[in-house]
Amino acid sequence: MKPKTDERPGVVILATGGTIAGMGESGTRPGYTPGQIAVDDMIAAVPSLSQLARIEGEQVASVGSQDMTFAIMTTLASRINALLADDAVAGIVVTHGTDTMEETAFFLNLTVDSRKPVVMTGAMRPPTALSADGPLNLYNAVAVAADPAAVDRGVLVVMNDRIHGAHSLTKTNTTSVETFLSPITGLIGTVIYGQTQYFRGPFRRHTDASEFSPAGASTLPRVDILYACADMPADLVDGSVSRGARGIVIAGDGNGNMNAPTIERAALAASRGTVIVRSSRVPSGKVSRNIEIDDDRLGFIVSDELNPVKARILLMLALGKKRSREELQELFYTY
Ligand code: GLU
Repeated sequence: MKPKTDERPGVVILATGGTIAGMGESGTRPGYTPGQIAVDDMIAAVPSLSQLARIEGEQVASVGSQDMTFAIMTTLASRINALLADDAVAGIVVTHGTDTMEETAFFLNLTVDSRKPVVMTGAMRPPTALSADGPLNLYNAVAVAADPAAVDRGVLVVMNDRIHGAHSLTKTNTTSVETFLSPITGLIGTVIYGQTQYFRGPFRRHTDASEFSPAGASTLPRVDILYACADMPADLVDGSVSRGARGIVIAGDGNGNMNAPTIERAALAASRGTVIVRSSRVPSGKVSRNIEIDDDRLGFIVSDELNPVKARILLMLALGKKRSREELQELFYTY
C-alpha cells in the first residue's frame, strides 16, 4: 500500500466478483450477470468510504462465487498475508459472491496468518437493482476492517448490518438480503452505518493461531460430500472412493445419520483408509459421536459444529499431513 498520508487507517479491498459487482438489465428484473464491475468502479460508487479509511483496490478474480476455486482462495490468502505484513495496512475487505462466501471465509480463517481484520462482504442484489444492498454492505465492511476492536476476531463476514464469524455463518435464503445466519453461536456483532458493536470473539482457533497455511493448500486432496436422504443409494460411497476421494463428508440427516446400507459401505471405506466425516444437512446443531451410530467401532469422525462444506475444507487441509483418526477428530473440536 502507498505510504500513509494522514491518520486514516489503510484498508485494501480485494475483489473477486459476485453480485456486488454484477450488472442487470433493469432495476426490477431478477436476471443479471455477476462479476462485471471492476473494483475501482465499485469503490468510486461509494465516495464516503474515504471518510473511513485510505482505500486501495485490487482485482483478484471476477467470478460468480459458484465458480470459486481453491486456486483463487489460495491466491487470495497469500495476497492477504503479504498485505497484512505491511504496517500501512490496518485491514482487508474481500468482496465475494454470497453462494460460497462461507467456504472462502472458513478457508481464510484457517490460512490467513494475521490478527488484523479480514472482512468479507457481498450483496444479494446487483448494483443495478432497486434497493441494492452492496454499497452499504461495502461501507460497513470497510468500517469493520478499519476498526481496532475487530482485531483478533478471525475472518468476519459483514452483510445486512450483521457481523458474522467464519466458523458459524451460513447462507439460509436464496434471495433475501437477510440471508446469512450464525445458527449455533450467534453473531459476533452488528455494524449500523459504520457504527460497530461486538458481542463476542470467535470460540475456535483461527488465523495466526492456525497450523494451516496457503502453501499447504496448493495441492489439496479430493474430498466429496454425499447428501443423505430417505433410501439413499449406498453405492455413492463406492463411487467417491473409486474416483480417488481421500475423504467423504456425509451431509447426514438429523444428527449426522445415514441409512444402514450407507453405514455399511462407509465403514468398509473407512477400514480401507478413506476418512469418513459425519456432518448434517440440518442447518443448525452439533453432530456428536456415538449417538445412533457407533463411531468408535466403525471408524467415523464427526464434524461437531461444522456444516458439510466447511467440514470438507478442514478435512482437505488436514489431509496434507499424516494424522491418526483421533488427531483428525480433535481438529473438528479445535477449528
Ligand atoms: N451466484 C452469485 C454469487 O455467489 C450470486 C450470489 C451473490 O453474489 O449474492 O456470486
